[in-house]
Amino acid sequence: MFPQHGQSVNIEKKQLPAGLYFVATPIGTARDITLRALDILASADVLAAEDTRTLRHLMQIHGVALGERPLIAYNDHNGASVRPRLLAMIAGGRSVAYASEAGTPLISDPGFQLSREALEAGLPVTSAPGPSAVVAALSVAGLPTDRFLFAGFPPAAKGARGTWLEELRTVPATLVIYESPRRVARLVTELAAAFGDREAAVCRELTKRFEEVLRGSLGTLAGTLQDRSLKGEIVIVIDRNRASETVDMEGALRTALADMSVKDAAATVAEALGLPRRKVYQAALDLAKGD
Ligand code: SAM
Repeated sequence: MFPQHGQSVNIEKKQLPAGLYFVATPIGTARDITLRALDILASADVLAAEDTRTLRHLMQIHGVALGERPLIAYNDHNGASVRPRLLAMIAGGRSVAYASEAGTPLISDPGFQLSREALEAGLPVTSAPGPSAVVAALSVAGLPTDRFLFAGFPPAAKGARGTWLEELRTVPATLVIYESPRRVARLVTELAAAFGDREAAVCRELTKRFEEVLRGSLGTLAGTLQDRSLKGEIVIVIDRNRASETVDMEGALRTALADMSVKDAAATVAEALGLPRRKVYQAALDLAKGD
């Protein structure tokens, strides 16, 4: 039974086994927190956070008391010195919940070294999955999601940026990139120049009041962003390199046509590669005629 509006959910406070618990937190709307995340925040012996104020605030919103439990800052600046302390607590039998500033820890956020060293020390690592801007952006971009590559933030240095763009250019998967609003216009212009006119979406302030998704070709979006400066948090989603897909599709069709009708070959390949049936059928017809 769902709780009625205004009625709070039942948070289960219980004894958690010793271990490291990565807790995903909302990327905007506070109510996107999961019930299990709240249970873990209410139950862990020790809380750790990238930003202790943000976590304290989130817990207040949801009525989770910190009580006498320690709330320890763990971030990129102090990670090396705080990590051994957190790991020692877990080794000593305590449950430690870690939340980054927003979204899923480790996804362009701290947590990787902590998880790595916990695992190396034979300590249990658990996830309380939930919001992440990568997945939220993929849900609304209108681009294929069967295969995607999350590229994080672009490097700032010119040389590294050029290499980064060149490596991504040929990837046969939808690309997901994080970027700050101040740099997004420049990045989309560079992407249009490097990748050609692919379909893309600029997703802004997801789950928040001013949520907005601009969809169009990279060239059109670059033009739009020359005239408009965006505010807030941004994810860019870009369609895959269709050139390599054409090769994949042709190869797959040739194999399928060896022992299938044009119709069956097209249906099989369209399904396998997640491509529009009509497009694959036309390609299959052309190939069948050409043979
Ligand atoms: N760990 C987070 C996650 O799981 O998505 C990402 C943390 S990273 C430091 C912050 C970046 O994520 C922002 O600069 C933006 O690119 C993206 N982001 C976070 N929240 C967002 C939102 N509500 N709308 C759009 N992008 C968001």
